[in-house]
Amino acid sequence: MTDIFRTEITYLKGVGPRRAEVLKKELGVETFDDFLNYYPFRYIDKSKFYKVKDVTNDSAYFQLRGKVTNLVSVGDKRTRYITAIFSDDTGTIDLVWFRGLSWIKKRFTPDNVYTVFGKPSVYKNTFNFVHPEIEDYIEGEDELVGQGLEGIYSSSEKLKNSGLGSKGISKLIRNLLNQTGESIRETMPDYLTKHYKLLDRKQALINIHFPENTRIIDSAIKRLKFEELLFIQLQILQNKQNLREQITGVRFGKVGDYLNDFYRDHLPFTLTNAQKKVVREIRADMGSGKQMNRLLQGDVGSGKTVVALMSILIALDNGYQTCIMAPTEILANQHYHSISQLLKEMNITLDLLTGSTKKAHRRKISEELENGSLQLLIGTHALIEESVSFKNLGFVIIDEQHRFGVAQRARLWQKGRQVPHVLVMTATPIPRTLAMTVYGNLDVSVIDELPPGRKPIKTAHFFDSKRLKVTGFMRDQIKRGRQIYVVYPLINESEKLDLKNLMDGFEHIQRDFPLPEYQVSVLHGRMKTEDKDAEMKRFVDGKTDIMVSTTVIEVGVDIPNASVMVIENAERFGLSQLHQLRGRVGRGADQSYCVLMSGVKLSAEGRKRLEIMVRSNDGFEIAEADLKLRGPGDIEGTQQSGLLDFKIANLAKDGELIASTRQLAEHILEKDPNLEKPENTPLKQQVQLLQSENRQWGRIS
Ligand code: ADP
Ligand code: MG
Repeated sequence: MTDIFRTEITYLKGVGPRRAEVLKKELGVETFDDFLNYYPFRYIDKSKFYKVKDVTNDSAYFQLRGKVTNLVSVGDKRTRYITAIFSDDTGTIDLVWFRGLSWIKKRFTPDNVYTVFGKPSVYKNTFNFVHPEIEDYIEGEDELVGQGLEGIYSSSEKLKNSGLGSKGISKLIRNLLNQTGESIRETMPDYLTKHYKLLDRKQALINIHFPENTRIIDSAIKRLKFEELLFIQLQILQNKQNLREQITGVRFGKVGDYLNDFYRDHLPFTLTNAQKKVVREIRADMGSGKQMNRLLQGDVGSGKTVVALMSILIALDNGYQTCIMAPTEILANQHYHSISQLLKEMNITLDLLTGSTKKAHRRKISEELENGSLQLLIGTHALIEESVSFKNLGFVIIDEQHRFGVAQRARLWQKGRQVPHVLVMTATPIPRTLAMTVYGNLDVSVIDELPPGRKPIKTAHFFDSKRLKVTGFMRDQIKRGRQIYVVYPLINESEKLDLKNLMDGFEHIQRDFPLPEYQVSVLHGRMKTEDKDAEMKRFVDGKTDIMVSTTVIEVGVDIPNASVMVIENAERFGLSQLHQLRGRVGRGADQSYCVLMSGVKLSAEGRKRLEIMVRSNDGFEIAEADLKLRGPGDIEGTQQSGLLDFKIANLAKDGELIASTRQLAEHILEKDPNLEKPENTPLKQQVQLLQSENRQWGRIS
């Protein structure tokens, strides 16, 4: 039996090839099923017409009927908007548009009657409607009134040009439901719909598009979210389960001299309990005979590096090669230096491979990888180039993996004869809901404790107008022997402008902190590697007091005496980046400070971000706040992955439902790993259907 919901959308009554093209381009709708799952984003009550005199400011929507006259364009080219007067037999009200002006100009004929639907706002003591919905009034439409709630679909300029504004879309979906409604199948077993009091699927789909009343909208949304999230989790977990069965991992059964020596003689501090716990988890996983796929989470400064290193030593003890892949050259360098430092008294071969590695050196690395004499390679994307091949790669660490695509990671896998164990590290914590979805088929280890003796960093926000005060504070800190970072954002609009911004700042600082009393370094991405290294070294050695730089110092840099971080244009940074930057200080015994500088004009969101930074030092809390603030679409690295294309659920808002459906999915699969029990047949069918449609969820990481 062919599935009617897989029918191409072009065959829906009222669509045809041209509209099908637009629907695909603008909404990604290709099949009946896609369209059925294109839901309204809000609902309005059009069951009643009001008169102008009845319009009040109680923030409700009003539907009016009347004429539109006196259309005028106001303002100059940049500030142009259009106003018009709307009137019925009881009075007038202003209409205002700021966008789509050329369309509005042509929209109205003076004597025609229009239906206007909008939310009144108060301006200069009268009401107006900004961007109201307008329709031609059709004689006899009053009879349609009473249909009540109408779903509003988001549309676009191109869709509207094809007659597919919200109304047009709604009409087509009406056709779709008429044609297919009877075929809508239940995907949930009875025991679940009963236990969770879920609306049946057909009712849910009909009512999400054409609700009978407000109450049922909530039930429909709940049901559809539940379904979406449960099936995502079933796919992720089944996939994880399958991988574990299919892939034989290298068994790292041995604990040998490298780890023991390091632990006994070279570890520069006592591990925190959290670090010990995580090392144990990793060791157990790598020794299990299954392939490890693990996410290592820990706040900035929690000591992930040493945990990574100890995991590497386990692999080396078992005779395998290892590598660390970092997203930037600077970070790769940092890893190389800090790990070289930790290993300096041990007899382990390691090397660094980045875009700047010279040809001859490259060749040497290749040789040593192939003959097995190189034990640990640290590098950037350069690691996954064709020419690199290992003799026996057994363990891969990917730092900040979200910047790597799935395909890139897969290429690393092919570097060895066996599938290596994989440890993914993120620079700052990621929200819980992301850990359960985007990273959902990784096991998770969390370092939830900072090394002892850290003083919480004091963070303050200053407007640029208070710069003198900040300068005074900086001088005082330098007098006490401290060093200071001053960081400028990379805005990416134009490299030239960014650089100018930084160099202007550098000049200012040189003026405020003159030679010979003060020494100032500068560091940015355009500098040659040797120069960067030289500047960095001057700062590390304490020869300069201030390091002016772009975000190149964001990652990895570890200088305990640098205890003040000044972030310029702080409003331009994302929260996790701010937190990551702040993590560069607070590494020594002294009280550390983070100063966030900004202009006075702040967006509401910018202000919120700075408030959160001032309030909290906790990366996990900040990650959650970030997700709430920005919504899931903007989380770094997730856009291109297409993994967050939820149809109805929301990563930022549905945390609880994500957690509970994950638990439920775990519970179901624990008892019935292949969904073979009769009561789970609907689940099995739907999972198979989703997988055959090549939905992404099964295949992450
Ligand atoms: P991150 O998790 O941000 O990568 P690092 O691994 O760079 O953190 O560690 C931050 C700093 O803390 C480093 O200077 C490191 O040497 C130090 N450190 C790590 N673990 C401990 C510990 N258990 N006790 C004391 N210092 C530690
Ligand atoms: Mg680190």
